[in-house]
Amino acid sequence: MTTQELQQAFEQAYGRKAEKIYFAPGRVNLIGEHTDYNGGCVFPCALSFGAWLLIAKNNDKVLRFRSLNMPQVYEIALDAIKPQADRAWCNYSLGCMEIIHRRHPEAKLESGYDLLYYGNVPAGAGLSSSAAMEVVTARAFTEEMGWKDADDKKYRTELALIGQACEHEYAGVMCGIMDQFASAQGKKDHAIYLNCDTLDFEHVPVKLNGIKVVITNTHSPHHLDSGAYNDRVRQCKTAVEQICKVKPIKFLAELSPEDWETVESAITDPIAKKRARHVVGEVARTSAAVEALKKGEIEYFGELMTASHISLRDDYEVTGPELDALAEAAWQVDGVLGSRMTGGGFGGCTVSLVRDEAIDAFKKFVGEEYEKKTGLKADFYVAEIGDGVMRLA
Ligand code: ADP
Ligand code: MG
Repeated sequence: MTTQELQQAFEQAYGRKAEKIYFAPGRVNLIGEHTDYNGGCVFPCALSFGAWLLIAKNNDKVLRFRSLNMPQVYEIALDAIKPQADRAWCNYSLGCMEIIHRRHPEAKLESGYDLLYYGNVPAGAGLSSSAAMEVVTARAFTEEMGWKDADDKKYRTELALIGQACEHEYAGVMCGIMDQFASAQGKKDHAIYLNCDTLDFEHVPVKLNGIKVVITNTHSPHHLDSGAYNDRVRQCKTAVEQICKVKPIKFLAELSPEDWETVESAITDPIAKKRARHVVGEVARTSAAVEALKKGEIEYFGELMTASHISLRDDYEVTGPELDALAEAAWQVDGVLGSRMTGGGFGGCTVSLVRDEAIDAFKKFVGEEYEKKTGLKADFYVAEIGDGVMRLA
């Protein structure tokens, strides 16, 4: 939808024009999976898909929420902001407003607002429609509450932290910072090399002459549920505890592949050992991938993506039949430099590097193989790497 069409939708809903329009993107992680809560780095980029928010003040001391993607409409009094019943979509928005005020008590909502959201991130695909919604809300309402420096890097990191706190407290998802960070700090044609522990980051140009980033959606109903996620967190903790008997560490990400050789035998729990081997390998692969990209060694970058998938499949065990079917089909196509699952795992999407001339063959072969193996139809998106959150009007 164009901003003009969104304005028309706002007028239809509320009988007047929106005063401001904002956009925040979804994201795809190129490499560095399940490293974030182990003190390691990730390497996501913002997409041109995302969430739009149109707002106008009202005189009624209420917040009115509408979304072009959702049938439910909410009206909440300004003095009654708290999490709404189960899974109400307005929680992603309300939470940000409340958390802005909590983190910055001087910032207050002085007036009611009419809000209209629209998103074009494919639903449930693990491309972070929720983070886009949080970050666009944090951007709009920090501005409404009088914050300046809207394009400053520190301010953008703060938007990500507000979004993450909202996801924890209002959606009940104990996510890391990657999704909201990418949505807030994205930069066109750049990926973000982010240390999730320190929040230090670097924008790295993604120059892929004649190669595209292709996202493939499994449309699988499976998700990484909080049980499987929490198991992985616990198993990594067990590995850290056992390693500490021979080498004191706080996070698995502190270990180099050379260190691994010397500490591996201290991990007596075989599952914890596999999980830790993934993390140590993935941290090294992520830093090697960033170096490869800087040197223009895209083929090596692709090989590291494929190695990442294999490690997530065999050691971390978070891929599942749908993601494996997509990646394994992709590896067989001439002109594919690498392919891996992206996001938490089990369902969601893969991300692949594909030469321009191979894209049609890739879609045909991977689509057919996937349907043969799973009975499901995959969707393909050629990703455009876009900017982070912004005000459009
Ligand atoms: P994702 O992987 O896309 O982030 P989540 O389950 O974390 O998936 O978030 C999806 C939820 O976010 C939706 O169920 C809805 O509550 C909310 N949401 C996302 N985009 C929108 C939108 N445009 N309008 C209303 N709610 C949205
Ligand atoms: Mg989400």
